[in-house]
Amino acid sequence: MPVSQEYTRTAKEQAFLETVTDIPHKREIINGLAPFLKGTAPEDLQSLYSSDELVQLGGLKDSNRDVEKRMPVKVTRHFAELAKNSPAIQKLVKASPDETLDLAGSEDPGNQMDYSPVEGLLHKYEMGLMYVVSTCSAHCRFCYREELIARKEIERADGTVAKKGMAKIPEIVAYINSFNDAVESNGGRHPDCGREKLREILLSGGDPMVLNNAKLAAWFSALAEAGIESIRVGTKEMAFYPQRFDDTFFAMLDGFHAAYPEVGMHFMVHFEHPDEFLAKSDDGEYIKDDKGFLAWVPETGRAMRGLLDRGWITVENQTPIIKDINDDPDALRIMQREMKRVGADNHYFFCGRDIVAYKAFNIPIEESWRILNESQKGLSGVENHAKLSITHYKGKTEVVAVTNEPIPGLAGSENGVVILKLLRNPADASERGKICIVGRNPEAAWFDDYEDSVLFDEAGLFSYNRLVKEES
Ligand code: SF4
Repeated sequence: MPVSQEYTRTAKEQAFLETVTDIPHKREIINGLAPFLKGTAPEDLQSLYSSDELVQLGGLKDSNRDVEKRMPVKVTRHFAELAKNSPAIQKLVKASPDETLDLAGSEDPGNQMDYSPVEGLLHKYEMGLMYVVSTCSAHCRFCYREELIARKEIERADGTVAKKGMAKIPEIVAYINSFNDAVESNGGRHPDCGREKLREILLSGGDPMVLNNAKLAAWFSALAEAGIESIRVGTKEMAFYPQRFDDTFFAMLDGFHAAYPEVGMHFMVHFEHPDEFLAKSDDGEYIKDDKGFLAWVPETGRAMRGLLDRGWITVENQTPIIKDINDDPDALRIMQREMKRVGADNHYFFCGRDIVAYKAFNIPIEESWRILNESQKGLSGVENHAKLSITHYKGKTEVVAVTNEPIPGLAGSENGVVILKLLRNPADASERGKICIVGRNPEAAWFDDYEDSVLFDEAGLFSYNRLVKEES
């Protein structure tokens, strides 16, 4: 494993970075419950919590049911203002006493750390996911990265326990170079793990868009110099603080594209609900123009337009389906239509993961499938691309179908079946497409709940052993 590497910029990189500028941003963040409990939150936003809610939440403070110990509370003015007119998105950022009723779940959902060869990097077959920052402008209560954002200690596969560290340019570039050199000199596959080139990097966290332009630009150019073919930015900033997508940011992107036109750039945005981007009237209805087109929240529309106007950037939305936030086919149908209308793609909908306290947020797998399928009725072929995915320890898995009828001749299928398909195994590309069929269990919220009803499992979802770490 590379340690304490030096990193020297190329002249081309340096020239690009010298063009980058930043302006200060005023996110007007309310951090924690204390401002609400003490009444020091801005007067017009104090009503985000009722006095009853504050009494309950205050009573849990410093107990083992303290909601802030599980996941820090944070909201921007922009989002709090949208939330005033939307119970669904209030639920997204407002802490609730129910969150800590049952703390069952994993501190490392998906055993992600099994894939971490360098601190801050998860290497999954052709793709690397980097933690570049450990916070976001606001915090979703159901966050899959609560262990990162709450800075919790995580047990790694080798038994050591430590907080998740952040990626650093010298170490990451050294790892990419050394891995890809070994792949190239071995005819296209790594001699030890058999994987192909590491060619795509997802900047994640936390939200990379809380970094300033200079830091983002430094990552982009260092990755481009290391031969990364495609850069993805995973962000919810367009919902929390769309003003971040300002002229200096777009100028930085343009400068990057001028310097490295061969590198693909993809924004993976994260909207749960149309209330996060559609303008509403005071009576809670979406505002339409005289032809019936829905109006976007102006700042969010500008941010989306700014990305989509650059034809070399793609934008894809992905989101979990979460109890009382977006378990609503009508909301999801509007969201998918609007995303595609403006030019963004609908990528994945996710079943909830086994995070700590998942029972407060997750809905059953079969119900998620029903909701998404219902939402896609009436959508056109280009609008209904999104799949329902559930991230198994073995990799991303699609919930392909749920049947109501038995499969003739298949014992155990009397109540119908769920068909699952392995979309990707981070350790082995050849596993894609393998299928698993389980008998239905309408209450199942995680794979464990199907353990007694496995009917066919060429994907090996129910005979999975954790990845054994290679010696580095
Ligand atoms: S934006 Fe993503 S990483 Fe940030 S709090 Fe929400 S779910 Fe977690």
